[in-house]
Amino acid sequence: MKKFDVIIIGGGLSGITSFIDLSRKKLNVLLLEKSSYLGGRAFSFPDPSSNEYIDNGQHVIVGACEEYVNLMKSTNNMKNFLEIKNYQVPVFKKNKVSLLGSKFISGSIGLLSSLLFYKHLSFWDKKKLIQCLLKIKFRNVDSIANNHSNFRDWLDKNGQSEDSIKYFWDIILKPALNQEIETISTQYALFVIKQTFFSNKPQFFGLPKTNLSSLWTDFEKRNSSNILKKTIVKKINLEKKKIKSIITNNGDELFAECFVFATQYSSTIKILKDSNIQLSNDYKLETSPILGIHFWFKDKITDQRFLASAGSEIQWIFNVSKNHNKEGNHVVISQSASNKWMNMNKNTIKEIFLKELEFIYPLANHENLEKYTIVKQKDATFLCNKNNEYIRNNTPVDFENLYYSGDWTDTSWPSTMEGAVISGKTTSKKILDSIKR
Ligand SMILES: Cc1cc2nc3c(=O)[nH]c(=O)nc-3n(C[C@H](O)[C@H](O)[C@H](O)COP(=O)(O)OP(=O)(O)OC[C@H]3O[C@@H](n4cnc5c(N)ncnc54)[C@H](O)[C@@H]3O)c2cc1C
Repeated sequence: MKKFDVIIIGGGLSGITSFIDLSRKKLNVLLLEKSSYLGGRAFSFPDPSSNEYIDNGQHVIVGACEEYVNLMKSTNNMKNFLEIKNYQVPVFKKNKVSLLGSKFISGSIGLLSSLLFYKHLSFWDKKKLIQCLLKIKFRNVDSIANNHSNFRDWLDKNGQSEDSIKYFWDIILKPALNQEIETISTQYALFVIKQTFFSNKPQFFGLPKTNLSSLWTDFEKRNSSNILKKTIVKKINLEKKKIKSIITNNGDELFAECFVFATQYSSTIKILKDSNIQLSNDYKLETSPILGIHFWFKDKITDQRFLASAGSEIQWIFNVSKNHNKEGNHVVISQSASNKWMNMNKNTIKEIFLKELEFIYPLANHENLEKYTIVKQKDATFLCNKNNEYIRNNTPVDFENLYYSGDWTDTSWPSTMEGAVISGKTTSKKILDSIKR
């Protein structure tokens, strides 16, 4: 009977991070992943309708995502990222584009100075917005959150107009938290603004230059004997308040000293329930969908790498071909908090967004369209709300040798790659502490 030091269930970013940390300390670690690729919710797949290999969703980082950047560096992947310093976000409103951020000055001073020239807000709105941002910059989150139940309420109390919400706050917070401003918890909104604009980490806007799953090709090759893909953990077996083994879909029983559930919360609960384990609560982690609308055009429609749109259906557009430094004219429209599109048929979605896109880029029209595909990610991220906060702070059940990992654990970050990597690091540290390595 072969016994591992640690078995990690789930090959998303949190599982990969723990695997790397623990293997470095010479532990014998096995990583089990349900699907045929690593990367979890940040993955790529061959799309049959377009015949292209595409990402499940556009993933973006900012400089404050320190642990994610460390993971990318340690796996020699920083070369696969565009680090755009002194970034400027073109914001489209009606038929005007105005820029947020400065080409010459980085960080918060760059942002604040660019606001002076921002055309989508009145002088009065800009004054109030800058005051509000300075308050967030210089004050502690807890001292200014003031028990406001949601961030919309906080913005109202802090004198933010409808225009400021539409042409500034929504553009940043909706994609960052994948949630409507009316439901975002004030603590998380303030946290995101502080991390995005006012952290003392290097400031940049980061985009992958390659498909997400290919980030793990070398890592997989180097560790192939300790990674099993297409392996689903079905059940756990207990012995004296400890997990003794796990059973996989192939019927294999695998043994280890410690077990890490680096699975989504819903999968974690399913495995525990299928193992007839009594749970401390039966809450469901509430999630939010992301919609990706991919278009391929015959002729180039834009040279911009990305653009945010306000006051139209479109939220953000990314120029995949340009960002991946590839031939072709592939763009993706990324729609956060996209509940309203989930049950709509794909052709209707295509028609609506093509029309909206043509309004921004006139060459994005039917004649120029080569092909399209729509990607619906129903449970893309979890919501930052009270119910989920309870789940994040309370484990479903405790066993001596069981560890939970994943963005949904208590990391203080919202549902992000940074949160996933932080949780993977925290878990490996706990395991190493427990065995004094
Ligand atoms: C469309 C989309 C866009 C996003 N955009 C961004 C972004 O711009 N920036 C950002 O920071 N974050 C973004 N995110 C969120 C980010 O992808 C996640 O927060 C992060 O990848 C979560 O990693 P994780 O390791 O915690 O969990 P997961 O990635 O969910 O990993 C869990 C793994 O466990 C495996 N698993 C589940 N059950 C079993 C089982 N029984 N046996 C074996 N394996 C199992 C799953 O297959 C999965 O690989 C986005 C997510 C989506 C879906």
